[in-house]
Amino acid sequence: MLAKNSEIELNITALGNDGEGIGRSGDGITIFVPGAVPGDVILAHITKVKKTYAYGIVKEILTASKDRVEPKCPVASKCGGCTLQHLSYEKQLEYKQNKVRDCIERIGGIVDPPMEPIVGAENTYFYRNKAQFPVGTDKDGNPVIGFYRRHSHDVVNNPDCVIQAPVNGGIMKAFSEFMVENSLSSYNEETGKGLIRHVYTRVGFATKEVMVCIVANGKEIPNAAGLAERLSGVCKEHGLNLASLVLNVNREKTNVILGKETITLYGKDHITDKIGDVAFNISPLSFYQVNPEQTKKLYDLAAEYAGLTGNEVLWDLYCGIGTISLYLSRKAKKVYGVEIIPEAIENAKENARINGIINAEFFTGASEDVAPKLPTPDVIIVDPPRKGCDEKLISTILEVKPRRLVYVSCDPATLARDLKILTAGVFTLNRVRPVDQFIHSGHVETVVLLTRVN
Ligand code: SAH
Repeated sequence: MLAKNSEIELNITALGNDGEGIGRSGDGITIFVPGAVPGDVILAHITKVKKTYAYGIVKEILTASKDRVEPKCPVASKCGGCTLQHLSYEKQLEYKQNKVRDCIERIGGIVDPPMEPIVGAENTYFYRNKAQFPVGTDKDGNPVIGFYRRHSHDVVNNPDCVIQAPVNGGIMKAFSEFMVENSLSSYNEETGKGLIRHVYTRVGFATKEVMVCIVANGKEIPNAAGLAERLSGVCKEHGLNLASLVLNVNREKTNVILGKETITLYGKDHITDKIGDVAFNISPLSFYQVNPEQTKKLYDLAAEYAGLTGNEVLWDLYCGIGTISLYLSRKAKKVYGVEIIPEAIENAKENARINGIINAEFFTGASEDVAPKLPTPDVIIVDPPRKGCDEKLISTILEVKPRRLVYVSCDPATLARDLKILTAGVFTLNRVRPVDQFIHSGHVETVVLLTRVN
C-alpha cells in the first residue's frame, strides 16, 4: 500500500489537467506529480494519498525525458504560474491539442471531433500584457512583491518573470522602494490589516501605453505624484509610456483581487491598445485578452468560422470591451454585444465611437438575460469565462437557431459539456481549433464552429 511520505520510483506516462505528470504505482494508484513529464523516470515523494489516487513531488529525476527542457525562469518550479516551462514547446502544443480532443470525446460524447492543428505562438516568452502581483511581507518585515508559491499564498519575489512584459520587474522594484520610503504596509490576508494588496499592470503592446493599478485596502496613498514620476521613469527605460496610474480600493476580506472603486492618480483612467487596425480603450476592471499576438490569430479564426458576408445580424455574447464585435463589425450588417461588467460596456461604446463604427450596439447584463430580447441573429459568437455558457443561454441559442454558432472557449471541459447539448439535434460540430494563448501553462483556448442542421 502506498503511504504518505514514502518514496516510489515512477514512470511518468501522461500529463494531467493542469500539466502535472501522471504515473501509476504497482497497485494501480494514479499518482499526480507536478513538474514531471512523460518519459521521465523519477523518485517521487508521496505527499497525499486518497483511495484511487495520490499526489507526490519530484524527489529526484532518475532518467530525464527527451522532451524535457531547461526552464528559462529560475523559480519556474516554485511559482504557481508556469506549470509546463520544463516541457519542449512542441510537446506543450501536442498536450493541449490532445486535451481539447479528449474533453470533446469524453465529456462531449462526440466521436472523432473535426480537429484542426493547434495555432502555436512565434514568441513563447514575454508575451503577456497583464500581470497581477500580490504584495506580502518577507521574514525581515520588508515588502515583497511577486507571485504566489504553488498551492500557497506565500509571496515569492521574481523580478525577471519570463512570460510578462519585461517592464514589470522595474515596476515591482520601484514600487517596493516606494513602499519602504513612505512606510506603506503590505496587506495581511489573515488579519485583514495593512494597506497594499496587489500591484496590477497592463501594457498596450501596440501603443506602448502602460497602466499601473495599485490595489489597496484604503482610499489613498501618500505622494502619488512622486510615485507617478518614478514609474514614468521605469517605463521610459523600456521605451514605454506610463499613461495611467490608478488606485483600486478593495476593503473586503476576499481572494478577489479588484474592488469596485477605482481612483485615477495620474494620467488617464484607461489605456488604449490596438488589435489589427482597431483601437480599444481598456479600463482596469474590464477583461482584455492577455496575449495580443495570439489574440489577433484567435479573432481572425473566429471571423473565418463566422463566415460573414456583410448581410448578417451577429450576436457577440460575453463581449468584454467589444473586441470581437468591433473587429468583425465591418463584415456584418449589425452586431449586438452583451457583457455583464458595466465598465467594459462603457469601453465598448467608446471603442465603437473612436473607430467610427456605427453598426454595433452594446448592452450591459447577463448574456442569458439579454439575449432573448435581441433581434434574431444569423450568426452567434459566444466567448464565456471558464464556467462556460449558462444553461438558459444554451436554451435560447437552441431556440433562435442561428445558421452558425462560433464558440470561443478558455476551458475545454465546459466547452465539451456545452457541445454535448448543442449537438443533440440542432447543430453539427464542423470545426475545432485550439489556440495557444497561455504558453507554458496548462490552459488552452479553443475556437469551434457549429452549423445548423437543416
Ligand atoms: N470576448 C471578449 C471577452 C471574453 S472574456 C474578449 O475577447 O475580450 C469573458 C467575458 O464575459 C468577461 O468580460 C466577463 O466579464 C463576461 N461575463 C461573465 N459572465 C457573463 C454573463 N453571464 N453574461 C455576460 N458577460 C459575462
